[in-house]
Amino acid sequence: MSNAFNVVVVGAGINGACTAFELASRGLKVALVERLHVGEGPSGRSSAIIRTHYSNRLTAAMALYSLRVFQRFAEVYDGGTCGFQNVGFVVLVSRKDLDGLRANLAMHQQVGIRAELISVADLAALLPGAYTDDLEAVGYEPESGYCDPYLTVNSVVQAARGRGVRLFQVTTATAVTLQGGRAAGVVTDQGELAAGAVVIAGGPWAPALARSVGVELPLNPCRVQVAFFRPPAGHDAPFPVVADFINATYFRPETGGLTLVGLVDPVEANYVVDPDRYDERLDRDFVLDAGERLVRRRPLMEQGGSAGGYAALYDITPDWHPVIDEAPEGSGVFLCAGFSGHGFKLGPAVGRMVADMVMGVEAPLFDARLFRLSRFAEGDPVRGRYEYSIAG
Ligand SMILES: Cc1cc2nc3c(=O)[nH]c(=O)nc-3n(C[C@H](O)[C@H](O)[C@H](O)COP(=O)(O)OP(=O)(O)OC[C@H]3O[C@@H](n4cnc5c(N)ncnc54)[C@H](O)[C@@H]3O)c2cc1C
Repeated sequence: MSNAFNVVVVGAGINGACTAFELASRGLKVALVERLHVGEGPSGRSSAIIRTHYSNRLTAAMALYSLRVFQRFAEVYDGGTCGFQNVGFVVLVSRKDLDGLRANLAMHQQVGIRAELISVADLAALLPGAYTDDLEAVGYEPESGYCDPYLTVNSVVQAARGRGVRLFQVTTATAVTLQGGRAAGVVTDQGELAAGAVVIAGGPWAPALARSVGVELPLNPCRVQVAFFRPPAGHDAPFPVVADFINATYFRPETGGLTLVGLVDPVEANYVVDPDRYDERLDRDFVLDAGERLVRRRPLMEQGGSAGGYAALYDITPDWHPVIDEAPEGSGVFLCAGFSGHGFKLGPAVGRMVADMVMGVEAPLFDARLFRLSRFAEGDPVRGRYEYSIAG
């Protein structure tokens, strides 16, 4: 069988999978290379919250595009399933951040997102037993929710294979090769794959491969944790996904009536690790900390119990936004990494963006310049990941 392709996509996380699907749907011969198994990297351990709340217009528009795809996933991905649960999404900010929240919601409405300010009484109805004394109003997205991450990535890859993508699992790309400054293919530990374009969608491992073509990708693999808590009896009803910027926490319902808790805290960028050698177990301290933060917002959880969790990786760039760019310029090598803990929900839009870039579409649906690699050297980072003050 021939090992020559139009494009090799390295990394079968959500973004590599969606990119491979999109490219194959446009008639290209695509290889998808994954060092582990599909979705076994950070994508499969994602909290997979699908919301559209962003503070820059491009990312909000990409999140909306992707939300529309998750809502009709089977139709787009040839009968696949993603387990989308439309529980809604609320964002909680302190009084001093209320104007910022209003500005974001106004921008969202211009983009076409269904988002509104709701009252504290409305929140109490959505999230029974919530502590609300520190809130004046709340941002609400009725259409948002969360997916099953592992199922989603595997469904996208299955659809991609149905459209002709060749999947190479347990295959590590060790270098991208150039000839005359243009992509010639990828060297893997299982042999070589020839291609005139290569997409590096390797998440925390992407810098190593980018370095093989002389590109420094500024991102750090950072260890983050997710903990599960069991509510007291009689309190396992679904509730909206909550982004609580006052307690620097997010939480959402999880299968089995559990509550999944993670942090939305800039300190997460401090926990830089070797992505091949980090502790995947949950720290006891994290369970106590996450539990306390959860109880501050939902005091009834004090009567619940902890139910495990795990550690995984964010690929964090200096401005917490991805690099989606051709580098070196004109080489046919495309970087697609650095999603910094919020890239799951963007997958379908990223696939579209990268495919447009690879194919040199003149008027792409999304203008990727915001995510160019040179923004860091130019001192022009994307603004607005942490638009709200984080307490604690
Ligand atoms: C705990 C946690 C919670 C999160 N919660 C959310 C959330 O609620 N909502 C949201 O939108 N985002 C969330 N994120 C972030 C989101 O999951 C990621 O941004 C997204 O999954 C990244 O996808 P990716 O395809 O870019 O990369 P990855 O998922 O990192 O996939 C990259 C893949 O490339 C493979 N690979 C790397 N190098 C090579 C190589 N040389 N050869 C072959 N294969 C290679 C890896 O094995 C991996 O499978 C969360 C992340 C974590 C860890």
